[in-house]
Amino acid sequence: MKQPLSIYIHIPFCVKKCLYCDFPSFAGCENIYDDYVSALCSEISDNASVFSDCEIKTIFIGGGTPTVLSCKNIGKIMDSIIEKYNVSNDAEITSEANPETVDFKKLSEMRSMYINRLSMGVQAWQDRLLKKLGRIHTRETFVANFNEARRAGFKNINCDLMFSLPSQTMDDWEETLENVLKLKPEHISAYSLIIEDGTPFKKMFDEGCLNPIDDDIDRKMYYLCKEMLSDKGYKQYEISNFAKPGFECRHNCVYWQTQEYVGFGLAAHSYFNGKRFHNTLDMKKYIEAKGSFNKLHEDIEILSEKEKIEEFMFMGLRMNRGIEKEEFKNRFNFEIDDIYKNELCKLKEEKLINENNGRIFLTEYGMDVSNYVFEEFIK
Ligand code: SF4
Repeated sequence: MKQPLSIYIHIPFCVKKCLYCDFPSFAGCENIYDDYVSALCSEISDNASVFSDCEIKTIFIGGGTPTVLSCKNIGKIMDSIIEKYNVSNDAEITSEANPETVDFKKLSEMRSMYINRLSMGVQAWQDRLLKKLGRIHTRETFVANFNEARRAGFKNINCDLMFSLPSQTMDDWEETLENVLKLKPEHISAYSLIIEDGTPFKKMFDEGCLNPIDDDIDRKMYYLCKEMLSDKGYKQYEISNFAKPGFECRHNCVYWQTQEYVGFGLAAHSYFNGKRFHNTLDMKKYIEAKGSFNKLHEDIEILSEKEKIEEFMFMGLRMNRGIEKEEFKNRFNFEIDDIYKNELCKLKEEKLINENNGRIFLTEYGMDVSNYVFEEFIK
C-alpha cells in the first residue's frame, strides 16, 4: 500500500499586505511571478521520485494569495503535480482565493484544473472593517465572486472569518455570521485576531492607536459563532473550524493528526520521514536554486520520540474528537497513562478535558484556555 501524503504549495504574493498579516508573502512582485512559478514547478517535478511510494490524498495551494497568479501559471503548477505524482482519484485539492482576485473565467479554469475546494478570505462583512484590516476586497466583490464560484462548479467552499477586530461590535460580528450563513458555504473558519510582531497592527498597538477587544467580548464572539453555526447544521470539529457533515478540511486534519506532508515553494514547511524542515525564506535564493532540495531545505530537525508524543497531544487535542488512547499506543508503544497520568488527572479535575469511549478531548472551557492545556503536555 502506498504511503498517504499531503502536498502544500506556497504562493508568497499578495496584491497588498493586510495590516495584521505576518505570513511570508510580498506585494508588488508581479515581475517575478513567472520566475517563481518556473522554480516552483522544477521543485515539484524534479523531486517527484522521492515521493514515488506515496499517494497524494490532499493538495493545498495557499499563501499569500494563489489567485494573484494567471490561470496559465496556476495550470503549470497543477500540471507539474498531476503529471508526476500519484494523486488519489478522490483527492481534496484546495486553493485559497482572495475575492478581489477572481472572476468567473478564472474560477472556471481553476475548477477544470482539478481544484475542487475553494477557501475564500472573507474576514468581515462590513466594508469599514475590511478597510481597517487593509483588505483589498469589499463585501460586494465577495458575494459576487462567491456566487461565481458556485456557478463555476465549486461545491466545497470555505469562508475564513475573523473576530475581535478593532472597533468591531457584537452586532457587526452577528451581521457577518448571519450574511455569510445565508450563502451556505460548506465550511467556515473563525479565528480571533492576534496582533503579531512585525506587523503594522503591532506598531499601531504599541503607539496606542489600536484598541484590542477585551477578552470577555472575544469569548462572547466565539460563543455566538459556535451557537449560530451549530443552529445552521455546522459541526465544530476543531477549535476554530466548523463544517457541514463530510466537509471537514482533510488537508488541515493531516496537520492536526501529525501525519506527513511536503511543502513546495518559498518558506514552505514539510514533515516527511520523521523530519521537519522548511524551504529558504530568501526569494532570490529560492528562484536560483531551481528546485534543488539540497539548496532549499533549512533547519532540518529529526523529531525525537518525546517531541512526536508532545505534538501528537497538543495538535490532536485541537480537534473536537480529541485523541484516541488506542492510537497513542499503536503509534508510540506506550499506554498514554504511562506518560501523562498525572497531567490527565489534573486536567480532568480542572474540568479542562474529558474522557469518553477511549477518547480524550477538550471541554468547552478547555477550548477557551487551550494553550494552558497544551503546555501541560510539553515536558
Ligand atoms: S491576503 Fe492573506 S496572505 Fe496576503 S497579506 Fe492579506 S492576510 Fe496576508
